[in-house]
Amino acid sequence: ASFAHFGFDSKLLKAIVKAEYSSPTPIQAQAVPCAMMGRDVLGIAQTGSGKTAAFLWPLLKHVSVQKPVEEGEGPIALILAPTRELALQIYNEAKKFAKVYDLRVICAYGGGSKWEQTLALQEGAEIVVATPGRIIDHVKGGATNLQRVTFLVLDEADRMFELGFEPQVRSVCNHVRPDRQTLLFSATFRYKIERLAKDALHDPIKISQ
Ligand code: AMP
Repeated sequence: ASFAHFGFDSKLLKAIVKAEYSSPTPIQAQAVPCAMMGRDVLGIAQTGSGKTAAFLWPLLKHVSVQKPVEEGEGPIALILAPTRELALQIYNEAKKFAKVYDLRVICAYGGGSKWEQTLALQEGAEIVVATPGRIIDHVKGGATNLQRVTFLVLDEADRMFELGFEPQVRSVCNHVRPDRQTLLFSATFRYKIERLAKDALHDPIKISQ
């Protein structure tokens, strides 16, 4: 497989070359075409599989054709991750490719400065990476809202559940418009994740490494 088959524009292909990625990983080869068609994806994949880029590239395609977010508006794409470390990793990978389209990315995690995050969220960004508890705090506090979210990623869903975030993850899913596109990634696929997939995904394509 080659990146040329994904139908990316030349700006993104250039950024991929610059990142020194020579060919898609198996999860990318499977997930990207499905997600680019607008389908929901249930990906069973571990860290190190390249899953972050697998959801980021279709996310960027989705977001880049929409009207930019204005001050006071919420994001178009929301990525939920279990921990600060993972949220920051996704944030860094996202910034690498989002700058190609002049899209803004904000990272809002528990333990980080609520005040700084609030200022950034109020200013507006097309893409938000967040831990589940913290994004709910920000929505409740009025710093942002989920009304414009049409692309939702639940990354490492099993770990989010292990850390006790199931209610927050479900709450976010229930607050985002139902006709959104949703991508769910999990290292394991047990009953609870199966149930979340049934509740939060619409006719998903299931893929594994
Ligand atoms: P992830 O599984 O998303 O955490 O990615 C693991 C690492 O692989 C990260 O450092 C990525 O920057 C890198 N990576 C992602 N996709 C590719 C690719 N197609 N070729 C080489 N490296 C990649």
